Amino acid sequence: MASNNAPSTGVGIRPSSRTVHVAVPPVEGSSPLGVPLYQGHTFTFPDADSMGAAFADPGGPFVYARYNNPTARALEDAVAGLEGGAAAIGSASGMGSITSTLWALLRPGDHVVAQNRLYGGTLGILGDLDQRWGVQVTRVAAGDPAAVEAAITPRTRVLFLETIANPTGEVVDLPALTAIAARNGVTAIVDNTFATPLLCRPIEHGADIVVHSATKYLGGHSDVIGGLAVFADDALHREVRGRTLEFGSVLDPASAWLAIRGLQTLGVRVPRQSENAQTLAERLAEHPAVDTVHYPGLPGHPSHATARALLTGGFGGVLSFDLAGGADAGRKFVNSVRLAALAPSLGDVRSLVMHPASTSHRNLDPEELAAAGIGPGLVRVSTGIEDVEDLWTDLEQALA
Ligand SMILES: *Cc1c(COP(=O)(O)O)cnc(C)c1O
Repeated sequence: MASNNAPSTGVGIRPSSRTVHVAVPPVEGSSPLGVPLYQGHTFTFPDADSMGAAFADPGGPFVYARYNNPTARALEDAVAGLEGGAAAIGSASGMGSITSTLWALLRPGDHVVAQNRLYGGTLGILGDLDQRWGVQVTRVAAGDPAAVEAAITPRTRVLFLETIANPTGEVVDLPALTAIAARNGVTAIVDNTFATPLLCRPIEHGADIVVHSATKYLGGHSDVIGGLAVFADDALHREVRGRTLEFGSVLDPASAWLAIRGLQTLGVRVPRQSENAQTLAERLAEHPAVDTVHYPGLPGHPSHATARALLTGGFGGVLSFDLAGGADAGRKFVNSVRLAALAPSLGDVRSLVMHPASTSHRNLDPEELAAAGIGPGLVRVSTGIEDVEDLWTDLEQALA
């Protein structure tokens, strides 16, 4: 006899109860090949003791979907495995992962050292922590490890870096910087969105936490918003998890399911996108309408040597370039592409272009733009998986 609290099969109860107690078909003798989408947010237990044990163990049975969900955990485990981490926490977006992780680690009076060129949303939350929450933030040119070391104080709790920074393609010396963090008892967080675990696994280079916008390469098809934080060790995971549960930036199971579907082709998409970006960067560098191409795969790029040492199998799918004609030329270019789409975001299977000075960064004055590494005629390209000759034909006609 099953206990009173076992899921009902619906047999022997009244129709109005039956409509509620729909039997779940058991899966026996085989397993679904694709990860099932578990939309159910609450899990039932045979007795109070097993429910109590589940509450006490974050890695144990599922309880409630704000704590965890089987589909979300499948993605968390997959990305933790790819990054070489102990565990991961999924979030509703990359910013959910970044903000909840920073909130979990920091308290008033703490200090953060941040690479000066970071994703705009990350700079936003760091600015907010600094101006409203009593956390001091110092932004440094992280290409210079001595500058990072000099910025660290006894109150420094977090060092925040990006593997490949947007849109300049700066690649910093992760092993040197994480060693500085470790010597000073500082938690090193690395945003690995642009590199993906295929090109770089920051935990292997000393990072304590890796964050991702799964919205970009991991998902890869512009149909899912999600984020992940991967932890090098389980103690840190547990420390952060307790507080992210309160934050409520939960990875939706349907989003996790789409991200898993995307993740399964990451290994063919990213090498192809990197190859396409490398070819386009080389050809753009020879084009008379183009001043400078920013791509770490080019020998002339300031981070090229660091990128070669750190990245494996390519330099990523994002490149940018300055048009000699300035802001007007930038706007004209993005209006003229036909195959590439004019769109924000990146990492999609389709190639995307944008002109930051007239869109994402339009509120900055020329000095602020220069500080962000964005010239008035800078165009960013996120290369897709199309045939590179078709992409080049498109860029060439748009340049003309
Ligand atoms: C897009 C992005 C984020 C934020 O991710 P969302 O999923 O949009 O919240 C963070 N870091 C980098 C590098 C990004 O490109």
